[in-house]
Amino acid sequence: MGCPHFIRHPRPVKSIRRKAPILLPSPTAQSPDPLRQLPNPAPDPDHVRDSIIACELCPRLRDYCTRIGETRRRAYQDHAYWARPVPGFGDLRACALILGLAPGAHGANRTGRPFTGDGSGDFMYPVLHDLGFASKPRAISRDDGLRLRDAWIGSVVRCAPPGDKPTPQEIRNCAVHLAAEINALPRVRVVVCLGKIAWDGFLAHLLLGGVIARRSDYRFAHAAEYTLPSGLHLLGSYHPSLRNTNTGRLDRAMFAHVFVRARELAGVR
Ligand code: SF4
Repeated sequence: MGCPHFIRHPRPVKSIRRKAPILLPSPTAQSPDPLRQLPNPAPDPDHVRDSIIACELCPRLRDYCTRIGETRRRAYQDHAYWARPVPGFGDLRACALILGLAPGAHGANRTGRPFTGDGSGDFMYPVLHDLGFASKPRAISRDDGLRLRDAWIGSVVRCAPPGDKPTPQEIRNCAVHLAAEINALPRVRVVVCLGKIAWDGFLAHLLLGGVIARRSDYRFAHAAEYTLPSGLHLLGSYHPSLRNTNTGRLDRAMFAHVFVRARELAGVR
């Protein structure tokens, strides 16, 4: 238990779907009061973090991350790779949760912090900085002093997968960490899923918690937007991978549009 958005509904409430893009903020009357007292204390964030880092549930991914950390890319031969599962990071009072797929083999698997030290982060953090979510436009290492404000960044899988393709079972294994992190973030009002795998992983979490009845009611698209029965807002974005940003499938304006909307929905000023 923890976040009010993830408490099971005794009776399913019909979801409200809005076609994206929507430029005007929706009324916040149906959003739960983010300050309301929760029945149980949220989990200890340090315990959640330690549990993620120590996890060995997926042998294939653990082997891969370790091997990548031993062989290293030529440009990073003198780096000590993190090579452990990567916990989320950010502001524990976050209103916005940003969910990626998994650590990059030579990005977060090297630096130990999501979207840090790779091309995806180089694309994302300047946008987050412009909008006030990040204190700096560049993420280089986990001790570079970068801070997030009103935002938390996590992923549906915490170990770098070969070819950026985790198996369905590995995604299911890692769902326990996603749930734990979400429960430690009781103020979240908006979730931005970067890519379809993150979207599907988050929907699986909602389905398991009884927050939604069917995944098929929520279709992934860039700038897709839904308001869940609990009042939580769900936004989709193409993943800021080099595959998408180098081909023009995702450009800065498209990406910023989603985060401007996230700010509006989260009520961040
Ligand atoms: S992917 Fe998740 S569940 Fe699997 S070993 Fe890594 S942290 Fe554990």
